[in-house]
Amino acid sequence: MSESVIVVENLVKRYKELIALDHFNLDIKQGEIFGLLGPNGSGKTTAINCILALLNYDKGNVQVFGEDMKPDSYEQKSKIGVVMQNVAVFDELTVYDNIDFFCGLYIKDKKLRKQYVEEAIEFVDLADYKKFYPKKLSGGLLRRLNIACGIAHKPTLIFMDEPTVAVDPQSRNKILEGIQELNRHGATIVYTSHYMEEVEQICTRIAIIDKGKNLAMGTTDELKKMIKKNETISIELLDLPETISEQIKALPHVYDMTYTDNLLKVFYSGGKHNLIRLLDFLKQEDISFGRVYSERPTLNDVFLEITGTELRD
Ligand code: ADP
Ligand code: MG
Repeated sequence: MSESVIVVENLVKRYKELIALDHFNLDIKQGEIFGLLGPNGSGKTTAINCILALLNYDKGNVQVFGEDMKPDSYEQKSKIGVVMQNVAVFDELTVYDNIDFFCGLYIKDKKLRKQYVEEAIEFVDLADYKKFYPKKLSGGLLRRLNIACGIAHKPTLIFMDEPTVAVDPQSRNKILEGIQELNRHGATIVYTSHYMEEVEQICTRIAIIDKGKNLAMGTTDELKKMIKKNETISIELLDLPETISEQIKALPHVYDMTYTDNLLKVFYSGGKHNLIRLLDFLKQEDISFGRVYSERPTLNDVFLEITGTELRD
């Protein structure tokens, strides 16, 4: 495995009585797009703020690039880019000048800075809006400006906190592709979201977070293997006699079954050829059926099985 870029051990963060992070652990490796997946209020932003030493915490250790992270760790911070959940740009500055300002905090050389700013503008596809003020930008464009400001200085570690919330699909795709491109160019990315589809689409590894705890960590496949549900087969049926329903429940690997609104759902904990076996059984019993489909578990299923609640909001 490659080197650890971020190591978080037993982090505890309280806001008065509320425990926002409860012995939280992470180990993020060089080259990952690491997803922090959890519902609103689960502690994602707090975790980022603690890692960046923007926030004091009650207990635990944070190392970034192999060294303790402190408020004055300027050397480490110069290699970090942050795209905050709440858009943070200056209303008085144009798109170009905003990016130039943030880039200028790190890059002193004028010529190099100009090049970096232009590249960032190109990267988020805002060339047509260089002279616009933030107030004139749509939500999606504003998000893209926010991203450009965070990445223009070419950091090797980038935090992106829910960069796609309230963004139109076109901008969303651009942002997701952009994250992957930054990663291809060598940046390690920490990406938070409560949209499991996005996390599944782009992240190399994912931590499932709930109530300040890191409940499970792994690749999408590893997470899905942690749960009982392995396959769900849905079949449209006009009628399901009781005897048939009992027999379906007794088929190999079936652990549960529901039948509502003419839709039969059979839940499998494993096994192969479940679909063929089920259809053969229905044919043999002379049960006619409509549409049939098989689904693999989603990250929502993983979340549901681990926490007992839905991730979807
Ligand atoms: P997420 O980013 O996953 O939505 P947050 O880290 O923002 O979660 O919040 C975690 C918990 O801490 C929530 O219950 C939230 O209400 C609480 N919280 C966050 N910031 C503060 C604060 N400054 N003061 C008090 N409580 C806070
Ligand atoms: Mg947040």
